[in-house]
Amino acid sequence: MARDYYEVLGVGRDADAPTIKKAYRKLALKYHPDRNPDDAEAEERFKEASEAYEVLTNDEKRQIYDRYGHDGLKGQGYEPNFTDASDIFSAFADIFGFGDVFGGRRGGRSRGPRRGADLEYPLRVDFLEAAHGCQKEIEVARHAHCDICEGSGLKAGAERRTCSTCGGHGQVMQQQGFLQIRISCPACGGTGQVVEPTDRCETCNGTGRKRSTEKLTVTVPAGVDTGMQLRLVGKGEVGDPGAPPGNLFVTIQVRQHEVFRRDGAHTYVSIPVPYPVMVLGGEISVPTIDGEESLNIPRGTDSGKVFTMARRGIQRVNGRGPRGDHHIQVVVSVPKKVSDEEEELLRRLAELQDTTTQEKGFWRKLFG
Ligand SMILES: [Zn+2]
Ligand SMILES: [Zn+2]
Repeated sequence: MARDYYEVLGVGRDADAPTIKKAYRKLALKYHPDRNPDDAEAEERFKEASEAYEVLTNDEKRQIYDRYGHDGLKGQGYEPNFTDASDIFSAFADIFGFGDVFGGRRGGRSRGPRRGADLEYPLRVDFLEAAHGCQKEIEVARHAHCDICEGSGLKAGAERRTCSTCGGHGQVMQQQGFLQIRISCPACGGTGQVVEPTDRCETCNGTGRKRSTEKLTVTVPAGVDTGMQLRLVGKGEVGDPGAPPGNLFVTIQVRQHEVFRRDGAHTYVSIPVPYPVMVLGGEISVPTIDGEESLNIPRGTDSGKVFTMARRGIQRVNGRGPRGDHHIQVVVSVPKKVSDEEEELLRRLAELQDTTTQEKGFWRKLFG
């Protein structure tokens, strides 16, 4: 059972970003793997704090978490994805800018093979597709591994050589004032290895990657709303050889519907109803997201009255909580054209009805 993120970081539910960052940095230093070698408990705490930090510093994820908790995030396709400490360092490079404090081989922005970049894909879906869920084919332009060298960037039979500048350590010492500091090796980019120009794969010129367009099927869960993101793990840009690819974030945009409106999981329609039905009562047919339904209009219903069909709105993503309600507002429909017979009846009706409000001076008494 995952612990509450606010509890993990020891901050209040209304904590702002700087407070969260400060709390996380303190914990990260305390449980840093380099300070706690072979301590599984510390590593767990480190990952837990990083996960909490990732969620609480992302407005969208934080909102989902606040409303629906851990399961809500899972329902949105967010899964804690830190498999090891180096993932965490690459995700929060700005916080771990102090990587060299520990002098270890982990951390830092430029050391070791880098994970691929994340991609974002905006996906428009129809109102009812969002309500019921759907499958969408999308085409994503991304970098994939070169087919010839399978991402290594090497010619067949060639090998990476140990970088002569850093002797394979990936770091070199640099004099700064009277301090000696360790920096990432500029010759090999911190990987400790280099590929000689003559050893490079000719198809990709040693980059190990190529542009490609990939067709993907996205399963859009029922209940999604504009702004929600689905994460497709590993479908972002490829990483350096030996590093995982980035993720693809599909951002949902729901098209407007000509009849239905929604607010979260609740749906709304406005239905014109003939005057005689409002006066005498009767049954009318109304649209719901599941199809047509009949609705009983009681005798003497006012124009503008709202009827609620409980649990007939939209399902919440991943079944978190009950379905929303469907609200039907009935308004008197006023025909623009009437037949001769209708006109005659309406005139007769007008004669019969109390026409006090039409009398001159009726409203005057309101003003004393
Ligand atoms: Zn290649
Ligand atoms: Zn080097």
